[in-house]
Formats: sequence, C-alpha cells, structure tokens
Amino acid sequence: MRFAVPRLRLASAAALGLFLLFGPDRGLRADAPAAPEDLNRQAFQLAREGERLARAGEEMAAWEKYSAAAEMMEQIAREDPAWNPVLVASRREEYRIRAAALGELAFRLPEGYVRVQPAMTRLGTRPALGRVLADQVRIAGEGKFSVVGYTVELAEVASLLGARCNCPDFVVRGAVEDYACRHIWAVAYSRRLLERTD
Ligand SMILES: [Zn+2]
Repeated sequence: MRFAVPRLRLASAAALGLFLLFGPDRGLRADAPAAPEDLNRQAFQLAREGERLARAGEEMAAWEKYSAAAEMMEQIAREDPAWNPVLVASRREEYRIRAAALGELAFRLPEGYVRVQPAMTRLGTRPALGRVLADQVRIAGEGKFSVVGYTVELAEVASLLGARCNCPDFVVRGAVEDYACRHIWAVAYSRRLLERTD
C-alpha cells in the first residue's frame, strides 16, 4: 500500500529512474520485450554487483543495484506470471529486503523527523492516546494531516518513512529524544503506516 507523501529522494535515487530507463544493465528496447530468463539473469548479476558494492562500503550504489534487481523480478511477475513463480517471488523478496537494509544505511530522514516503523519507541500513554485520536485525523494536504488542531507531516526517503508534528510535546522533546507524540501515533494508526511492507 502506497501513500501520497512528499518524496525527498536524493539526487542519485532520482538518477536511478534514468538508469532504469536507459541504463546498459536493463538491455531493453520498447520494440523488443525482454524474455523472463534474460531479466532473471540480469537481476542476478545486478544483485552480485550490489553485494560487491555493499562489501566495499558503497551502500547507496549497492541499494541502486538491489532496487533495480527487485524491480526486474517485479517486471517478470507482472509480464510473465507463469514463469517460475516461486523462484521469482523468493528472489524479489530477497532483493527487496536487501535493498531496504541498504537503504537504511544509505539514507537519512530530514532533521526533526522521527522514523515511523513498527519498532517505534512506545513512550508513556502516547500510543494509547494516539489510538483514541485515530478517528479524528483529517487530511490537510499531500502527506499532511490535522489532528485536534496540530499538524503532522510525513516524509519519505527511499524506503524510510518519517513524521513530525508541531505540538509542544514533539517539538520540545519528541524530535530531540526521537519518539512520536500522540498525534503522530494517531496518524500512524489511522493511515495504517505501521503495516507498510515497503
Ligand atoms: Zn504532536
């Protein structure tokens, strides 16, 4: 499930799109659809390069390789669903998980955002109060929500999702000590942000 939040991707991540469209690894032309075995082989090769880059400490370049490999497996699943579905599903998952792990090393949320994730710090009664407030969350713009007079904003950087709130609890303490206020919890519950798989 995807959410419309501002994407603060880094320049190299934006370049990935061009890489995917025109890069030599893809080897695709509009008039010549790729055979699934070719895509699978190319994805495997990209993953190997990604692993080599990861070992060399080049997390962002490695993330690009694994992301491209996962995208190729997705392309096979989409265009040739009957071609080795078990292998395709397991490699897609493997590349996706590796890309997400590398993304955590390669990318950072902007200053002042707390990371939204299932392991988010549960401080005091904030998660419980957030659950109570969940049905009072109103959409206030793209990636923006209004919760009982305060504004929660989301930001997405590669595979990372972040949130900030303008309430005193978050501005004075949460942003500094890295925990979510009740309003961020309310948005997380109401938009099911903790159930995201990507
Ligand atoms: Zn708040």
